[in-house]
Amino acid sequence: MKDSNLNSFTELGLSLPITRALADERYVTPTPIQAQTIPPAMTGRDIVGIAQTGTGKTAAFALPILHQIAANRKRPEKKTCRVLVLSPTRELSGQIVDSFKTYGRHMNVSVTLAIGGVPMGRQVRALMHGVEVLVATPGRLLDLIQGNALRLGDVEILVLDEADRMLDMGFIRDIRKIIAKIPSKRQTLFFSATMPAEIEDLAKQMLNNPVRVAVTPVASTVERIVQRVVHVAKADKPALLADTLRAETIDRVLVFTRTKHGADKVVRQLVQKGLPAEAIHGNKSQGQRDRVLAAFRNGRVRILIATDIAARGIDVEGISHVVNYDLPNIPESYVHRIGRTARAGAEGVAISFCDGEERSFLRSIEKLIGMTIPASGQAMPETSAPKHGQRNGQRHRSNNNGAPSRSGPSHKQGRNNRRPQHGKSQSQGERKERYTGEIATAGFMQSRP
Ligand code: AMP
Repeated sequence: MKDSNLNSFTELGLSLPITRALADERYVTPTPIQAQTIPPAMTGRDIVGIAQTGTGKTAAFALPILHQIAANRKRPEKKTCRVLVLSPTRELSGQIVDSFKTYGRHMNVSVTLAIGGVPMGRQVRALMHGVEVLVATPGRLLDLIQGNALRLGDVEILVLDEADRMLDMGFIRDIRKIIAKIPSKRQTLFFSATMPAEIEDLAKQMLNNPVRVAVTPVASTVERIVQRVVHVAKADKPALLADTLRAETIDRVLVFTRTKHGADKVVRQLVQKGLPAEAIHGNKSQGQRDRVLAAFRNGRVRILIATDIAARGIDVEGISHVVNYDLPNIPESYVHRIGRTARAGAEGVAISFCDGEERSFLRSIEKLIGMTIPASGQAMPETSAPKHGQRNGQRHRSNNNGAPSRSGPSHKQGRNNRRPQHGKSQSQGERKERYTGEIATAGFMQSRP
């Protein structure tokens, strides 16, 4: 179908301020989910998008929404919003706000964030005069409505992002309550990584003759990542982690533990071994989480230890490695975790530590991803390993602001489960162009129910 062959944002007919912002961002080609979603969403159609983070789904809904706002500017009524985006986590919500601000930077759009874990006063004040776009987590949104700070009677466009996570996190009742307060004459854009029966039901109730768009990122994301598993006794994991972090050419590494307590323990052990690390998990205040995430993003912190919930929605470019210190018991979590690297079409390395008790988790993961993860006996010994940023005599590249670039040639050597390489290392801009090349081959399908 014609839309799927779109290979330039300029062909989409998005309004000028938006195309200018995309040019600023050096986005050239829409990703498959964008090529399929943006044209019908621009005309007001409802959408069901089956896609996970990393596919470009945020822009897939933000761009057509901004286009419609640009075409019909009007002052929102007090304590109302024109567009409501519901997202399951604070981090993801913050990132969605950033995306709206980035893509809407030349059109002076009002975007507000309403999330829990921070005082409500600022959010109440921000809503006082009405906003064009409100991005919220369900609990805080209901609090604001109850506190008389917000009415949903003027919502023209509703986005439900990561619907399956909403279900996992127990938000479905809240979502139903919220939907009941929104006019039924609206446009709804519904995104979910998976479509379990309950989510399919919810979509049926919420959507009106939707365009259904599905991308299959699991395989394509997984294929871009060099994976390996190290079989190790539980007691040896701390030493193995330190060795691995020293041996690998790491720009930014996200280490997953199963529990919050485990995350803090790993931080202490690494710090003791002279490897500065920070943790992000549900026991940290929102302020702490924001600070740690900002430090991780700007390169001041290179080693971040996270639990699954806290890591949801973390979209940080340049994560060169993901380490599964504990293997997840839910195989889909493995895919979500390792997808934190290989963002925007880049490549990455995922190393999983598997102790005796975790073998069955490993088998389930391998079944899900349809491949055997190559096992390596041990990490490169400390003594023979080159230090960060240097391997096989090659210095690691730096980018303009002095932060290490994630895609030095060193990532590309000695791997046995890679897809064909594209040769030389790439700068950020080149990576974005490269993305556009890869996405053209990514599998996706579309049908109208
Ligand atoms: P998302 O799936 O929305 O989490 O997006 C994943 C990453 O891809 C984000 O860092 C975006 O900035 C980036 N991205 C989204 N669309 C494009 C595009 N068309 N070209 C290049 N990068 C993109």
